Amino acid sequence: MKNIAILGSTGSIGTQTLDIVQRNPDLNVVGLGAGRNIDLLEKQIREFKPVLAAVFDEQKAEELRIRVADTPTKIVSGMEGLIELSVLPESEILVTAIVGMIGIRPTIEAIRAGKDIALANKETLVTAGHLIMPLASQMKVSILPVDSEHSAIFQALHGEQRRQISKLLITASGGPFRGRTAEELEHVTVEETLKHPNWVMGQKITVDSATLVNKGLEVMEARWLFDVDLSQIQVVVQPKSIIHSMVEFRDGAVIAQLGTPDMRLPIQYALFYPERRYLDGDRLDFRTLKEITFEEPDMKTFLGLPMAIEAAEKGGSMPTVFNAANEAAVKLFLERKIGFTDIYRIIRSSMDEHHVIAAPALDEILAVERETRDRIESRW
Ligand code: NDP
Repeated sequence: MKNIAILGSTGSIGTQTLDIVQRNPDLNVVGLGAGRNIDLLEKQIREFKPVLAAVFDEQKAEELRIRVADTPTKIVSGMEGLIELSVLPESEILVTAIVGMIGIRPTIEAIRAGKDIALANKETLVTAGHLIMPLASQMKVSILPVDSEHSAIFQALHGEQRRQISKLLITASGGPFRGRTAEELEHVTVEETLKHPNWVMGQKITVDSATLVNKGLEVMEARWLFDVDLSQIQVVVQPKSIIHSMVEFRDGAVIAQLGTPDMRLPIQYALFYPERRYLDGDRLDFRTLKEITFEEPDMKTFLGLPMAIEAAEKGGSMPTVFNAANEAAVKLFLERKIGFTDIYRIIRSSMDEHHVIAAPALDEILAVERETRDRIESRW
């Protein structure tokens, strides 16, 4: 029996993780956590009977406490509650399926408490990778990637020596606006942006996929996860998302992981690594597939990727500014207060105004995030 806690259980990754739990009787949910969706959380509590459930919103937590008073599940709230969930003595592994850099403190505390991490919450590694990776190795905990590209690389590296990596090839679908011009991007709507060609995901990552910010975050995530230089990471557009990513080794061999787009596979792989379990669902049929095509990413139109690379190259606190500005801008875009390309303008001006702090401590990361967000909110 493996005991797991899920931070962000009501979201896209969280619900798919619970789907994997339902299919595997040797997985046991001991903790659940969400932001404010207590309707779904109540259902999950009744079905999975966790020891503890955390709700970030205090009022919603109070409401849930009353609703589930007939169950033994303890309800906690706020950041302290998320941390209590993350360090739960009963759990062995924490699935970080929360969205945004709010996941940093719970993730760090979970590592300090010796929990393995199944990591979907890429924003945490992007902003605090320099703290998290050394801490994980000091605490001897595993950081198991859930993001499909990083899981693909992790699978390709199984049994290989990391020092023999020549290049990581991260694939990208190109998003719903692939092929559009910068002028056309000025007029795209929220609805068009939320229609990803291959994946159904939470709103924030779907917008990030359209701006190519997501690919930029993935480059930064890969750099920390696999300890490679930025120059060893290449983004390749592969529009159908059949190849989930590849590794080129120093002898020239390229190992790729392919499959139908189904996030349950990387989630299950992370939970049972290195074991592969049966998973239902579509299989690739190479007779009907016929071809897999590749393109260069359009870095002149989709500025999310080049700006992310620039932030990663500057290092220190700059990835935090890139990420915090993007989180604030995506929120404004989803609230229909700004246009699609304003996301790029907001990130650009935030990065331009920032003076980099080298190797920021956790408090500094959180302060830079707050300042960046406050500055954007005061202007828009
Ligand atoms: P969703 O928006 O679908 O879900 C987000 C989850 O986080 C929800 O459970 C939400 O709770 C919870 N949450 C949000 N804010 C808070 C908060 N302040 N405190 C506690 N919980 C909170 O996101 P996704 O599942 O799409 O993405 C989650 C992470 O996984 C992101 O970092 C994303 O980049 C990454 N990822 C996602 C993929 C996907 O296919 N969806 C693929 C690869 C990576 P509530 O519902 O109550 O608001």
